[in-house]
Amino acid sequence: MIRFENYIRVKTVKEAYERNQSFQNVVGGGMMWLHLSEGEYDTLIDLCDLGLDQIEEEETYLKIGAMTTLSQLENSERIKEYFGSTFEDCLKHIVGVQFRNSATIGGSIVARLGFSDIITLLLPLETQLRFYSQGQISLQDYLSGKNQRDILEYILIPKKKKTIRFESIRRTYTDTAVLNVCGTKEEDGYRFAVGARPGVAILVKEDEEVLFGDNQRGSKEYRKHVYEILKKRIKESLEEETCG
Ligand SMILES: Cc1cc2nc3c(=O)[nH]c(=O)nc-3n(C[C@H](O)[C@H](O)[C@H](O)COP(=O)(O)OP(=O)(O)OC[C@H]3O[C@@H](n4cnc5c(N)ncnc54)[C@H](O)[C@@H]3O)c2cc1C
Repeated sequence: MIRFENYIRVKTVKEAYERNQSFQNVVGGGMMWLHLSEGEYDTLIDLCDLGLDQIEEEETYLKIGAMTTLSQLENSERIKEYFGSTFEDCLKHIVGVQFRNSATIGGSIVARLGFSDIITLLLPLETQLRFYSQGQISLQDYLSGKNQRDILEYILIPKKKKTIRFESIRRTYTDTAVLNVCGTKEEDGYRFAVGARPGVAILVKEDEEVLFGDNQRGSKEYRKHVYEILKKRIKESLEEETCG
């Protein structure tokens, strides 16, 4: 079990950043992943007073605060207006409603979990991340970079009304995915984000090779097979939308 000597609700992002430079301190989002980890730390840094729990609209982006919960995203009319039911289709599999009422989008991204459905969903949307110190970087670059003990403030999704489709294969409805795929149609062809490979999601073109691996949920051969099926389903669904 993870333990802390102290708990602090910071008043500014600057304060959160400065405190987070110590390896003895830890930033908490919804604590759903963190509470499963082990170790004794000095201070838990809570971001809940920073107003980072809003979904706002700017000129070119949907601006989502890092402390926005998965339930807020799932139920947001603003999100539905741009992306239909795709966020809901993706998020409904994550554990259960009470869990999603606490888990945050920021924690889901910073944790860079290989099986993450959320990262797979956000990649084809050309999502940008705004950190306190590093400034703005793409989600794609963040996934291949190093952990810099920075504070994620906002998730920025371009307001392009992109048609996207999310599909996953799971052993049971709320288990983590054996494979998850999110696709979109661009002017020059399809793009697919492929996650739970079991590595963290990557973005590929339709015919690009994807490296799969084995874990307790499935073999690389099985994942390769399932990928072709999910890709086909997504393409058919995107075609229907375009024709309809
Ligand atoms: C049992 C279980 C099943 C799950 N199943 C799924 C699933 O099927 N699909 C899926 O996509 N996900 C799944 N998850 C992942 C889940 O969505 C994440 O655990 C959760 O969303 C993490 O968010 P959190 O707010 O609880 O983060 P926390 O646990 O609070 O934090 C996670 C990490 O992010 C850091 N952090 C948090 N916020 C910030 C910030 N703003 N800036 C900098 N660092 C920050 C923390 O220090 C920590 O290192 C599962 C998790 C669990 C525990």
